Amino acid sequence: MWAKEYKLTKTFIGRGSFDADLLRELTEFAEKNGVRTASISVIGAIQTLGIAYYYQDSHKYENITGFENKGPFEIVSCSGNVSIKDGKPFCHVHLVAADADGHCYAGHLVEGTKIFAAEIIMQVFEGDDLVRGFDEDTKLSLWQK
Ligand code: ZN
Repeated sequence: MWAKEYKLTKTFIGRGSFDADLLRELTEFAEKNGVRTASISVIGAIQTLGIAYYYQDSHKYENITGFENKGPFEIVSCSGNVSIKDGKPFCHVHLVAADADGHCYAGHLVEGTKIFAAEIIMQVFEGDDLVRGFDEDTKLSLWQK
């Protein structure tokens, strides 16, 4: 493991917009507010869900399907971070969503998650930019030293 040291400098606590796409909303908020390094936490409810799974053997994200008629959903847990990719703030977010029976669907958040209500906490850190770059082992865009 390696790590850099950061100082928590600011916490935003607010609500996402009804009908907005969760991932786009988080990314636009980070861009507008100059957030470059942060942790993200969200609970609430969503009308639709967009999640993906990374296949480690083929090195591809594939959208997860099969739950479309199970919604709307609760956001049971949603956590992520903001770092820099291609020179811009990039939100990497994972989400667990529950249907009316309490069955959960989870994965890597992609566009297609429509907010019903979202309580968002974004903790902003000060320090060197965490920059994503190609990682040979995983073929993912991961934080570079
Ligand atoms: Zn992910």
